[in-house]
This record gives sequence, structure tokens and C-alpha cells, in this order.
Amino acid sequence: MNILVINCGSSSLKYQLIDMKNENVLAKGLVERIGIEGSQIKHETIGKEEVKIQEAMKDHKRALELVLNSLTDKNYGAIASLDEIQAVGHRVVHGGESFADSVVIDDQVMKAINDNVEVAPLHNPPNIMGIEACSELMKGVPQVAVFDTAFHQTMPEKNYIYALPYEYYQKYKIRRYGFHGTSHKFITEEAAKLLNKPVDQVNLITCHLGNGSSITSVVNGKSYDTTMGFTPLEGLVMGTRTGDLDPAIIPFIMDKENMNPNDMNTLLNKKSGVLGISGVSSDFRDLEDAASSEHRAQLALDIFEAKVRKYIGAYYGTMDHVDGIIFTAGVGENSISMRESIIAGLKNLGLKIDSERNNVRGKAQLISTDDSSCPIFVIPTNEELMIAKETLELTK
Ligand code: AMP
Repeated sequence: MNILVINCGSSSLKYQLIDMKNENVLAKGLVERIGIEGSQIKHETIGKEEVKIQEAMKDHKRALELVLNSLTDKNYGAIASLDEIQAVGHRVVHGGESFADSVVIDDQVMKAINDNVEVAPLHNPPNIMGIEACSELMKGVPQVAVFDTAFHQTMPEKNYIYALPYEYYQKYKIRRYGFHGTSHKFITEEAAKLLNKPVDQVNLITCHLGNGSSITSVVNGKSYDTTMGFTPLEGLVMGTRTGDLDPAIIPFIMDKENMNPNDMNTLLNKKSGVLGISGVSSDFRDLEDAASSEHRAQLALDIFEAKVRKYIGAYYGTMDHVDGIIFTAGVGENSISMRESIIAGLKNLGLKIDSERNNVRGKAQLISTDDSSCPIFVIPTNEELMIAKETLELTK
């Protein structure tokens, strides 16, 4: 059974075609600049050369049309016809309180995703465009929505209600939702396998550290608390996002700089984080390269590291026991020095990293010493595979 996984951004569309018999990726690609001049597809069928298709794409429907053409192309395609795609799995950012699990998409589900545009005005509209394009171009093929927020719907009320007047939760659904749920869930399942424990018996601290970053405390296999909040802006310092901030800073800057809410949103989401601190880059590799000569690049890394440590410490201290701490995503999987310095500052918890075991990139591996108070692992995340697995489960 082949499953097409689709992840739509406002001007982009990422896709993977996965053969679920052996969980092999058959083809993958990225469409960029949809609706903007210079749109293009980078398509790769595994085992064949990558191709670049440059063609005007006025909307997501046209982009998907070209993606489907690429997948079935005689020379660089992966399948002979679209009949070989049995289901489509869509990443949908915000399921609000409507979805605690993935669902097969029907009219009612579409209405609920549309209703959640209010809490995710930037993220849900492109996801909806992707679903609509598939419905038109792949009539009769079942489609599944997999939500970034769903895994975190198990958080207890005390961890998701903000200390605002309660009426704002009732009127506007302002609460912590949490994101990266597909990744935290995937990592939880993989960690349970490595620990040889049933998934509903594992207590973990899962650290998804990439361009966007979040940490989740997982109790009995379920999300108990997480660092991202009403939007993916809260919590850790990220590539370009502030993470936690004294909220009083926001009206202060708006007043001083004569900014409107839109400008402020851009500042908080796109111009801050390690980019804002360093003035060098939002990319951790660039920061590591610049750190020896640029004080602010080192400072950005130090602040990022301190925040990760603070949340690991907070979650560790509030859980009955911890079976494992997991590092994943771009930085978590690849930055040997970042993992080392995060854990070095947690000696008081009895956590110890083994330098030799930690000398690993992008591979599942134990990286703690045998006498560490709990095992620490690197586990590569795979959100596309998780989406495909959930889609298979609901449509087989
Ligand atoms: P992601 O959002 O998960 O794709 O992660 C992207 C981030 O991972 C970028 O900031 C990259 O610089 C970072 N990253 C990837 N490889 C490495 C590496 N070898 N060392 C440090 N950071 C890395």
C-alpha cells in the first residue's frame, strides 16, 4: 500500500510517497514559491537523479497537479499511475480541542479544521488548500488529517490553562495546545521499543530541537506537559522565535517603535530567537562556526542551551520517574557539542553523557554512561512516516 504524505505551507508543499509494505520512501520532493514568481519543484524518485521543474504555479492545486505528474512520469516518476496511491495523509497544524487523534477527512472534519483557522490563522489555511486540491485531483482516494496538536490533548487542565481571566479560554479558546505532536509521538513509540517497555508505561522527556524547538514531558506514553503554547512561539529559544518572554515587553516595544500587532508578530516569530540575539544566523551550524570569533553567536548558543536545560530540569523534577531523555530533530540529532553541554549542566540530577557514545549524528543510539541516573538517547524523528502510519491505520 502506497501512501502520499503532504505537508503544505503558505507557499510550499512537501511530499513523500511511502510504500508501507516495508516503510520505504519511493519518492519525495518540495515545491517552493507557490503563487510567487519563480515557483519550482525539486523531485526525487529514490534511485534516480533529482529533477528540478520550473513552471508557474498559481496555487496549491496547480502545484499538486505537477507533483502527481512527476510521481507518474515515465522517466523520473516512481509509479505507473495514480491508482497506485491508496491514501493521502495530510499534516494539519491545528486541530484545536476538536481532535485528540488523526481522522479520515469528511465534510464534518473539514468544517472543524476550518473552525480552527481562528486559532491558527497562519497555519491551517494552507493545510486546507492542500486537502481541497487532493479532493479535486484524486477523487475517491481516502484522505487523513494528522494534527500537530493531537498528541498534546492529553495534558491535564492545570498544564494548559493560562493565568488569564478564564473567560478568554471560554470565549476564544486561548490555552496551551502544544505542537510537534507527531514528532513527540513518534519518538515516544521508538523510545518505548528501545527501552523494551510497553508504550503506555514509558515516562520520557522528549527534546525536539531544530529550527523550531519544543520539549514534552511524557507520562505513561501520553503528553503531560509541553513547552509550546497557544501558538508555536512559546517555550524554548528557537531559530527566529523568542520563546518565553515577559509579556509586558510586547506593548513596551510596540509603543516605543510605533508597531502594530502584525509588525510585532513578525518581530516575535521571524526576527528573534538565536538570529535576533546573534545577528549572525538562525542556523545552528552557522552559529557553531561563528562562535569562536563572534561573542553574540556564542551567547545565542548559551541562551538556547540554558533554556533547554531549564525545561529538562523542571520536567525531571516534577515526574515520578524518568525512563529516558531523548534528543531529536536537526540540532538534537546532529549537534554533538550542544547535547554534551546541555547534559553537562545537569550533573546535579545525576545525568551523565558518554563522549564516545555521543559521537553520533542522525542515528538512534544510547549516549549516556551506564551510571547515568536515566538513559539518554538520540532518536531521529520521522514525521512523514508517522503520518503515513496513522493514515494506513485509519484506511487499511
Ligand atoms: P530542523 O528544523 O529539525 O530541520 O533543524 C534544522 C536545524 O538543525 C538548523 O539550525 C541546522 O543548523 C541544525 N543542524 C543540522 N545539522 C547540524 C549539525 N551537524 N550541527 C549543528 N546543527 C545542525
